[in-house]
Amino acid sequence: MMHIDFYQQQLTMERISVADLAKQYGTPLYAYSKNQILANWHRFQQYWPNPHRLCYAVKANSNLAILELLVAQGAGFDIVSGGELKRVLHAGGSAKSVVFSGVAKSTEELTYALEQGIGCINVESAAELERIQEVAKSLNVMAPVSLRVNPDVDAKTHPYIATGMKANKFGIAMDDAMPVFQRAHNLSHISLIGADCHIGSQIMSAGPFLDAAKRMFHLVDNLQQQGIELTHLDLGGGFGVTYEDVEPLDIQQYLTGLLDLAKEYPHITLLLEPGRAIVADAGLLITKVEYLKHSNDKSFALVDAGMNDMLRPSLYQAWHEIIAVSKDNNSTDKLVDVVGPVCETGCFLGHARHLNVAQGDLLAIKYAGAYGFTMSSNYNTRARPAEVLVDGNESFVIRERETFDDLIRGERLLQRD
Ligand SMILES: *Cc1c(COP(=O)(O)O)cnc(C)c1O
Repeated sequence: MMHIDFYQQQLTMERISVADLAKQYGTPLYAYSKNQILANWHRFQQYWPNPHRLCYAVKANSNLAILELLVAQGAGFDIVSGGELKRVLHAGGSAKSVVFSGVAKSTEELTYALEQGIGCINVESAAELERIQEVAKSLNVMAPVSLRVNPDVDAKTHPYIATGMKANKFGIAMDDAMPVFQRAHNLSHISLIGADCHIGSQIMSAGPFLDAAKRMFHLVDNLQQQGIELTHLDLGGGFGVTYEDVEPLDIQQYLTGLLDLAKEYPHITLLLEPGRAIVADAGLLITKVEYLKHSNDKSFALVDAGMNDMLRPSLYQAWHEIIAVSKDNNSTDKLVDVVGPVCETGCFLGHARHLNVAQGDLLAIKYAGAYGFTMSSNYNTRARPAEVLVDGNESFVIRERETFDDLIRGERLLQRD
């Protein structure tokens, strides 16, 4: 069931019309459906029995209220900074439930994570392993670690893969992995518990995931022959969502396929790190058309949300569906570029869209729940939007719209008298 849909010609999130949300909280506005997030979470959970775990990738949407919602579902978390760990703790999560990914963790972040009792550090290089050993030794603790390897799944047959191949900054090449595992096994303050991979994002079929998983299980076998027993295998995130009208990833097929592979490894706990698939379709970015403009043979809808609010189109040419919030206006369909106010040609939300819009109308950018607000900035001294969570016929501000004072907080004039 979709919690964002048209009801009597009006785009509605759960039981509240999107136009009412805009009226109450202003635009641009991020709105999230609580029950869509929960439905997405349960879609994974139902095929994922204990002791296997789901660690929500915080960077997709790190709002405290959303983390709190997932803590209540018993979620674990995948983080990529000390700041994200603070968020998880602030939302009531435990450090034990957290895996810490990221290629350039600082000594401060590692110290903080170990002091808090982090569940696992996903190590991305041989050099990082040595750093963790030093930090753990100075704190007199054992650091639980997993080594991130690149399963090098064939990119030719699976074109969406971006991070699981040999040549990139993430993880350790499969061919180089054995000595690093040996080293981790032998270090005095390292407790080697697992191996992990994350082959990329927006992957639309189970095939590449299962290929990667097979290689990871093969690694488990090889390590066992060397006398190294792992207890967990973390297969990362990257589950695609259908921004465009294509066949969605079959989560059931992937998860049951994984459980099948895992049957021969009863001592291994599996972890998954879904981010986008939990929050993307639960969120809208609601924006108002400030002006319509025609120049030469092009038409523009100039809207009040920009690349600072939603970076994905500008950064990756990501395609997001944009729809009129009301279907019952009298304007006619136009071919428009939907562009924002930021002073960059690259500030756009969508090119060449057929939209039924007039000045003052509201538009909604769909699938804005993941990598939307978390990638926002204050470029052009623009205050970031408010975020609201909708639950049935109630809505809650989960982040206030920024003010000018928020924007200049911490700045100093040189002369002040
Ligand atoms: C970003 C990231 C994820 C989440 O990816 P999604 O595409 O949002 O599912 C999971 N694990 C790691 C290590 C990541 O970097």
